[in-house]
Amino acid sequence: MEPKADRSLEKLRPWFRQRVEQLLATHPEVAVHEAWRSEERQAYLRKTGASKIERSKHQDGLAVDIHFKEAPHFPKSSDLRWDPVRRTAHHLGIDNGWDLWRWDGNHFQCAYNLKEWEYDFMDWAVENGITNGDDPKSPITLPRLMGLFKKFTNYIKNGKA
Ligand SMILES: [Zn+2]
Repeated sequence: MEPKADRSLEKLRPWFRQRVEQLLATHPEVAVHEAWRSEERQAYLRKTGASKIERSKHQDGLAVDIHFKEAPHFPKSSDLRWDPVRRTAHHLGIDNGWDLWRWDGNHFQCAYNLKEWEYDFMDWAVENGITNGDDPKSPITLPRLMGLFKKFTNYIKNGKA
């Protein structure tokens, strides 16, 4: 039997979840079809050929599959309906399957390959409002650093940034 797709955003990494929420808020025409994925479901999808890889970013809580609310729900990867969604995703640090490997156009995943401890710190900082998590690989400027100090001071004083 097919293990069910998890559509809730709850098991996504908090940092990535926030980016996905922004994507959905910008594009009310789409919805999440699948978010986090269990090992059992990934093994099942491999067996059926729906997935070609052993480990997907879904299992790490760093990918979502998206569909359109109105039919056709899954337009072809090259369909122009995807373009504005892809553009917004790109600005949010989210890659699309079509851009990555020319298929799987409804697949969206975290564009960054961070180390586990880097994800942990980003999750913590985003959950506590210290950063919105934009562009984690960019060099930090003095104004950004001062902004972080200010938010962190608020966090220490008031328990929230
Ligand atoms: Zn996917």
